[in-house]
Amino acid sequence: MLEKTCSRCGYTFSQFKRTGLFGCPDCYQEFYKELLPTLRSIQKDVYHAGNKPKYSVEDKELLSEYKRLMEEKELAGIEGRFSDMASISEKISYVIEQLKVRGLI
Ligand SMILES: [Zn+2]
Repeated sequence: MLEKTCSRCGYTFSQFKRTGLFGCPDCYQEFYKELLPTLRSIQKDVYHAGNKPKYSVEDKELLSEYKRLMEEKELAGIEGRFSDMASISEKISYVIEQLKVRGLI
C-alpha cells in the first residue's frame, strides 16, 4: 500500500506518528483524515481522566472547554503557531485553576 505523503514537503503520516511533529504547515491539512482517530483517542483519555460521577452543567462545560483548549493547543503545535500555543496555555491554566477550585482534578 502506498503511503500518503504531504504534497508540499513529502512528509509521511508514519513519520508523524514516530516524531509527533509535522514537516510543514500543510501537513495538518494533508493528514487531517488520518489524524482524526488520534484526536478522538486523546479526547477519550481526557474523559477517562475526569471519570467521576455527578457533574454539574458548569463542571461539564469546564471539562469540555479544557478538552477543546488542549486540542487547540495540540493543533497550534502541529501547525507551528507558537504564539497561539502560549496564549492557549494561559487559558488552559485558568481552566485548570477553575477545575481545581471545583475539586474536579
Ligand atoms: Zn508538509
